[in-house]
Amino acid sequence: MRARTIVVGLFAILYLSAATSAWAQNGSRVGIIPSPKSVLAFSPGDDRTIADWKQITDYFARLDKSSDRVTVQTLGQSTLKRPLIVAYISARENILALQKYKDIQRQLADPRLVSGPLQRDRLISQGKTVVVISCSIHSTEIVASQMSMQLAYDLATAQDPETRQILQDTILLLIPSPNPDGIDIVANWYRKTLGTPQEGSSPPELYHHYAGHDDNRDWFMLNLKETQLITRLLWQQWHPQIVYDVHQQGSNGSRFFIPPFFDPPNPNIAPLLLRQVGLVGHKVAADLQAAGFKGVLTNALYDTWWHGGFRTAPYFHNSIGILSEAASARLMTPTTVAPEQLTRSSTRGMRSASEAVTNFPDPWAGGTWRPNDIMQMELIASRAILSLAAKYRVDYLRNFYELNRKSIEQQASANSPIAYLIPAGQAKDEAVAKVGLSLIDQGIEVFRLDKELHLTYGPQLLQRTNAASEKLGTYRTVIANTASMQEVPTSSYLIFLAQPQRSNVLALFEPQIYPNRLTGQGEAERPYDVAGWTLPLQMGIDAPAVTAIRETPGERKLTLIKDINDVRRDLALPLQTADVSPIKNPVAAGIRVGIYRSPAPNMDEGWTRFIFDTFNVPYSSVRDTEVKQGALKNKYDVLLLPSQRLSVQETPQNTSSEETVAGLTDASVDSLKDFVSDGGTLVCFDAACEMAIKQFKLPIKNVLEGLRSSDFYCPGSIVSIDVDNTNPIARGVPRSLNAYFINSSAFEATDSSVRVIARYAKENVLRSGWLLGESKMRGQIALAETRLGKGRVVIFAFRPQHRGQTWGTLPLIWNALSASKS
Ligand SMILES: [Zn+2]
Repeated sequence: MRARTIVVGLFAILYLSAATSAWAQNGSRVGIIPSPKSVLAFSPGDDRTIADWKQITDYFARLDKSSDRVTVQTLGQSTLKRPLIVAYISARENILALQKYKDIQRQLADPRLVSGPLQRDRLISQGKTVVVISCSIHSTEIVASQMSMQLAYDLATAQDPETRQILQDTILLLIPSPNPDGIDIVANWYRKTLGTPQEGSSPPELYHHYAGHDDNRDWFMLNLKETQLITRLLWQQWHPQIVYDVHQQGSNGSRFFIPPFFDPPNPNIAPLLLRQVGLVGHKVAADLQAAGFKGVLTNALYDTWWHGGFRTAPYFHNSIGILSEAASARLMTPTTVAPEQLTRSSTRGMRSASEAVTNFPDPWAGGTWRPNDIMQMELIASRAILSLAAKYRVDYLRNFYELNRKSIEQQASANSPIAYLIPAGQAKDEAVAKVGLSLIDQGIEVFRLDKELHLTYGPQLLQRTNAASEKLGTYRTVIANTASMQEVPTSSYLIFLAQPQRSNVLALFEPQIYPNRLTGQGEAERPYDVAGWTLPLQMGIDAPAVTAIRETPGERKLTLIKDINDVRRDLALPLQTADVSPIKNPVAAGIRVGIYRSPAPNMDEGWTRFIFDTFNVPYSSVRDTEVKQGALKNKYDVLLLPSQRLSVQETPQNTSSEETVAGLTDASVDSLKDFVSDGGTLVCFDAACEMAIKQFKLPIKNVLEGLRSSDFYCPGSIVSIDVDNTNPIARGVPRSLNAYFINSSAFEATDSSVRVIARYAKENVLRSGWLLGESKMRGQIALAETRLGKGRVVIFAFRPQHRGQTWGTLPLIWNALSASKS
């Protein structure tokens, strides 16, 4: 895990025949700088070519050796043990003084370290704008990973005045991909299918071992190794002013999306940041237009509401997060787009990809679309951002410093939080440690109480404000039960709002209230991602809001937690090692568990494996071929179906390749039914319940099925459930619990044989996020079991392990497994 020492390639051999930058400005010795083409035998972005991770990292190693403008650092290992690298690119003298610039960034990020205006001005005059460019976190959006080599080469070799200014005034942290494993999954699949009918299709497996596409939904939870390594680089070490995350979208819409973003903005993002995001986006859009590119879209689809993305997390560190989404080819194979496809393509903020409007003034006419088109647009965008960062260096540094200063100095209004408290003694030590780890990795300050404190505090709840409109409830937050000061025991944790990351703390701890946004037809307008994610609610721990502290700062005995091992020591938990989770298997011994792994990649399946691996619960992945063979009861006590809409066909959809078959066959349904009848337990999550209910004719009905979003809508939100904890599946679980609902289900029983374990709350269902039409789900079944033959089916209407973030509902899963033998 330890980053290797940065070595600058100063002593490489000098080739006198070098055409490019044989001598750097100051005459230091460097080698000839190899172009990507000279190493790969093709130019990045050429049709039907792909560089895999080894080729990419080898190329960057050559740049490290041959250019004094480039130095490469290995941050650690990916989930499947590939090196995760970052290339620092800047002028030679900056590269030689990276530690000095890191120190400047640390002080600009935390104005408490700055003695006064003189020192502030000195830091701003000496500092450089630090820019991060990250490529292809989504591995099928492959072009940027190839582009990264060209971008690095161009910056390492160009001698024009603009490039020199960029190198002089910025430090670029270029991440060729934050998901190295996925680059190889895609490269291997692309090469294997090249010249076959499947050329250009997506690989039939998750392109991150656990998370797939959700590898970009993890940036506050930090479940994945890749997110942990990069979060520490960005928010513990470098505090970049600008973070650019390079993506691709579908093929038939705009050619390129760049901010400004669509609504709604997250209320915790500083307005100045939104303005700066818009400025950068318009510079990119203008440069693309000037270079003759058509089809550039702004102010559409993508919003800044949600927290968990590579480009959204920076806002909560007072940094500028930029996203671009280029239209995709078919991996590295050109595609053709017909004008009618563009006309039909619409999204929020864009009625059609063929109609000129102010935020989309120059539609693309259609035709052939090549990887190289994508690469050229991404190169122009990268250069536009770097050029702004260089020219307005002083503004970026000053604005960054001032936003951080305001975060520290902002006064709380009456009865609003000044801190959040994680009280000691919750009997949820692992979950407390996990939250602590996530906060500390993001650079949030967490203090331990070394002496009792007297605090006024209470849970921060959502309260409906207009009961008159049942469907369109509006909400406000209140802090409940704060009548008196209470003594809080030592070893509790306090997270103050008066810290540079004030907005991050608020965005993680307070309940989200997503605004009611409806289309002209009265349907719900879908948010880009989830609407609510409040971390302590998902994790099932108490973290009330503090409104007053009796002791003056001088009387408080608090210790800043530096390291997650401090938290684990406080809680007397085993210490974490790099690769082994110290959590004890919570499931009864000897239970044989199979997790269904469908031919179609399913992120919920990946997250289920992640949670099982984290808690050291043994399991086997069960593929459809094994299901069809039958006799499952001989091998498993429990089969678990992760959330996935499972279609059932008589024969597999596509017999040319077993890998691309989606859904179950009649034979596999019969086999699952036999498994239950023989005494097995089938556990279904959310969307997978439908298959069991309909195919096994269970006496259960989803009351939300077929409802229009004008009547009921709840995307990615936290809801309250009432639990019967006398049932073994809910043993040891509180009677009221938060559950994750993402366009999920609510059931009613059609006969009395169904044993109900949990129901959605009878009132105040929403805890965080967005809920339209609450009455449709109030009091309905959230968790139940029903007998079938000698066995049983357990149905979770919600997502009990959503993205590995909902530790509050994990005990229900572990109990369902343990109960399978009772
Ligand atoms: Zn993407």
